[in-house]
Amino acid sequence: MAGRIREDDINAVRERARIDEVVRETVTLKAAGGGSYKGLCPFHDERTPSFHVTPSKNLYHCFSCGEGGDVITFVRKVDALSFTEAVEKLAAKYGIQLRYEEGTSGSNAPRQGQRTRLIEAHNLAAAFYQEQLASSAAQHARNFLLQRGFELDSWRTFGVGYSPAGWDALSNYLRSKGFTAEELIAGGLAVSGQRGAYDRFRDRVMWPIRDAGGDVIGFGARKLTEADQGPKYLNTPETPIYKKSHVLYGLDLARRDMAKSHQAVVVEGYTDVMACHLAGITTAVATCGTAFGSDHVKVLRRILMDDETSNAEVVFTFDGDAAGRKAALKAFGEDQKFVASTFVAVESHGLDPCDLRLQQGDGAVRDLIKSRVPLFEFVIRSTIADYDLTTAEGRVAAMRAVTPVLAGIKDPVLRPEYVRTVAGWLGMDEAALRNQVGKGSKNAVAQSTTTRAVDTGVAAVERTALKCVLQAPALVGEWFNSLEESLFTIAMAAEVFSACQRAGDPLTFDSPSTWLQAVLDAAPSDEVKAKIRELAVDPLPIDNPDERYVQAVLARILEMDAGRRISELKAELQRSSINGDDAAQNQILTDLLALEQYRRDMREYSIGDQ
Ligand SMILES: [Zn+2]
Repeated sequence: MAGRIREDDINAVRERARIDEVVRETVTLKAAGGGSYKGLCPFHDERTPSFHVTPSKNLYHCFSCGEGGDVITFVRKVDALSFTEAVEKLAAKYGIQLRYEEGTSGSNAPRQGQRTRLIEAHNLAAAFYQEQLASSAAQHARNFLLQRGFELDSWRTFGVGYSPAGWDALSNYLRSKGFTAEELIAGGLAVSGQRGAYDRFRDRVMWPIRDAGGDVIGFGARKLTEADQGPKYLNTPETPIYKKSHVLYGLDLARRDMAKSHQAVVVEGYTDVMACHLAGITTAVATCGTAFGSDHVKVLRRILMDDETSNAEVVFTFDGDAAGRKAALKAFGEDQKFVASTFVAVESHGLDPCDLRLQQGDGAVRDLIKSRVPLFEFVIRSTIADYDLTTAEGRVAAMRAVTPVLAGIKDPVLRPEYVRTVAGWLGMDEAALRNQVGKGSKNAVAQSTTTRAVDTGVAAVERTALKCVLQAPALVGEWFNSLEESLFTIAMAAEVFSACQRAGDPLTFDSPSTWLQAVLDAAPSDEVKAKIRELAVDPLPIDNPDERYVQAVLARILEMDAGRRISELKAELQRSSINGDDAAQNQILTDLLALEQYRRDMREYSIGDQ
């Protein structure tokens, strides 16, 4: 058995490993005040962040499911590792040399955990394959890459390599480094045969697949010759470190930009990920030999912070063909909240991003992503496209086909919008279509629950903002003048803010108590006065709020308002595009760009430094 890691070294790992940094590989975190951060819990499914990380205490805790612990516990739980493996993973990340107590098995050699061994084997394999790509035997592999527009520099960026044609090149190399045949088979690098283990990947272009932290956990491999009887793409099988339902190729490179831009682009293959990144779409990822599924949704949602109030976007570059449509329809049934922020970018000639870049350059790839349409619209349009709308029979059949799709839209704002739009496309009576869809909808309950959840999130932010204004007027400072009554969507909150405005500029009062008195005097009713008193004494979520905290709260209110206005403009844009009103469209687009910029600025404040 493995010897125990020395206590001193475990403590060194606890001290040096930064919990917020480690958690950020899995979960995007926002400042939550008091030096804490919060995000969507990786241990249970949630839409509103209740997972808190406190770096000063080296602790994490989920207020919803109760999961909590220190940095080692986090790595153990999230990567399903043993204690030893978690310590080893962190030690490797932070460059801490571990020493082991003498094992009980009688062996003095330090024995590591399996995960650490397999990662080490994969990192060595990736370097080996990369080196082989330069060999004379790999001419056809280099040509494959060059013909697809990938120059030498990009091979290095993505760590692309070549697996030699023999049966044992990698196995021999790794065994010379002290790995056993059992380990190579367990890691999926070798296959067990009648005469021992032989290399799984032979005579192929190799893409290393990394986890979010950058460790190589598997490979994708493309065959190069017709003589190769295997499938065109071969991937690492399920292993202790490789779960294909969770793995996204390119995530290690895309993760930071995804969190920053709140956008993820999902493409279909390794070469498409490369083409997108090289063209400046640095948020591109791909699934590896499997369809995009609900576990991938969870991985992306945690990174995008796709909670109720953020406006994260996921863009799929599906083929326009039947398979792509089927994939879109499947995603459609998967997760409504996710789907509402899902877009589809379809290249009109059916080119994937790799071919598109090759034929038309980097700009064409960026334009493709820009041309995205909402998934709902894509699905509805492609459903209708199967019917001949010039005949009454065709229109009725199209209506029947599209009804379940419309009924499946649970968002109470979106659905009537789409019913109206689709009625226009079909040239049918809107009321008739609405009636038809109403019969097909069984989602009234789910709908009201979602709406309530949104309200709670918004109400909490509005309440905290008012507490800041009432309790810390000096910290609010100039920001007070940026606030308007219309930012507050809860009626009582708007009343309270309006009283604040009537009381005057908080900076002109000499103490918080004279300011509070002025606000109370300006309140129109006893009910509003009572609310003001309550908000004036209810403690803020953090102990000693500073200017930064107060600004973050107020920026959040402004950001949420910008988000609402952006949604309205987008709806307007859709209407004007149907009417073909170009001038109106341009105006809306200009406004939209300005608002998006404003929202990004506010987000900078409200998130704090990353
Ligand atoms: Zn939780």
